[in-house]
Amino acid sequence: MKLLKEKIMNDGKVLSDTVLKVDSFLNHQIDPLLMKEIGEEFANRFTDEVITKILTIESSGIAPSTMLGLTIGAPVVFARKRKSLTLSGNLYSSKVHSFTKNETNEISVSKDFLSPDDNVLIVDDFLANGEAVKGLLDIAQQSGATVVGVGIVIEKGFQQGGQILREQGIRVESLANIKSLANGQIEFFDY
Ligand code: 5GP
Repeated sequence: MKLLKEKIMNDGKVLSDTVLKVDSFLNHQIDPLLMKEIGEEFANRFTDEVITKILTIESSGIAPSTMLGLTIGAPVVFARKRKSLTLSGNLYSSKVHSFTKNETNEISVSKDFLSPDDNVLIVDDFLANGEAVKGLLDIAQQSGATVVGVGIVIEKGFQQGGQILREQGIRVESLANIKSLANGQIEFFDY
């Protein structure tokens, strides 16, 4: 997605050979116009699928997911990283190791919001080693829902997550795929 790649080139900060900071439009401040285009692009990519629910993880998956939900008219469910007092029992849970924070969180979704009747699209901001997506797949599987695919805003193709998921036959669509962050330079795959 051209606009997203331009934004990454102009505003992204390379923190290390493996971490990209995009706080100015996705992870802290949010660019609503870009999010709207991202939502529409996901909708186009998955136009052949019936999606009844979008499943993401707080907090940075929520903005792109909501814009997709607005475009296709489907609700967005976000997995919570901390159990709130009002979210006890009645939960699907999974453990997720965070690439950026190097800690393991339990993520949870209320059983009220996913059912075997759902066709779920999983969405997240970044794909690195695939841990967050694996946790969301686990939760979807526990609910009996069907997963139609995974939509990622920024994939880091030099890490293993995308390959692992695609080898499992899961459809992964990423809107920008980074080939390398070496030497402070952002390089994309050509497609
Ligand atoms: P994974 O679970 O695929 O290893 O990592 C994806 C998760 O870690 C995403 O939900 C995202 O929040 C975070 N993440 C991974 N790599 C990066 C990165 O380079 N920059 C930012 N801002 N977040 C990342």
